[in-house]
Amino acid sequence: MKKIRDIKDKIIYNKTENYLNKKHEKDINKKLKLVKKVLKKKDIKERYSYLYDLLCDYLDNEFKEKNICDFNCGICKKKRHLKEKNIKKDTFINGCCYSYIDKKDCDHLNKDGSCNVKCLGCKLFTCNYLKKQGYKYRLKNIYLSRYFFNYWQRNFIEYTFRKPKEYILKGILKRRSRIFK
Ligand code: SF4
Ligand code: SF4
Repeated sequence: MKKIRDIKDKIIYNKTENYLNKKHEKDINKKLKLVKKVLKKKDIKERYSYLYDLLCDYLDNEFKEKNICDFNCGICKKKRHLKEKNIKKDTFINGCCYSYIDKKDCDHLNKDGSCNVKCLGCKLFTCNYLKKQGYKYRLKNIYLSRYFFNYWQRNFIEYTFRKPKEYILKGILKRRSRIFK
């Protein structure tokens, strides 16, 4: 059993290395060290949890460094655009953490605008306005997740919003058996 896991881990490592080289990514050695750290976690729940946190950190940094949603006084880039176009809305604040369908903020939104759960789906999400500007995040295009998750796991994560980490981890584990199919 251990041997099969080792072979699968080696495949993940080699595929990730090839992907990074093919994409001519920067800091390949640093990235591969991180992949090794994930692969060192032999307990599968621990591995997914660690990987999940790494992906959340990666996306948080990405959105912060590039100032992708560009919040100003609680109003994001897209909502400012709607406001400038005089499109009537009940509110423009809190970006997509406000639901126009429910007419309320997400239950996980803190008063200071931060989120009290780690929802990877929300972190990956970009609205159509941002997509048109070229901001689109897919797990298959991130070296850390490309080979660690199968299609069903990726699909589940990318379309699960407003849910805490524990809920998403359960869903990831449930879809694990289809790995390598
Ligand atoms: S994804 Fe779009 S709608 Fe959501 S906060 Fe960012 S700019 Fe605003
Ligand atoms: S779970 Fe998603 S929608 Fe809710 S506050 Fe957090 S980031 Fe916003």
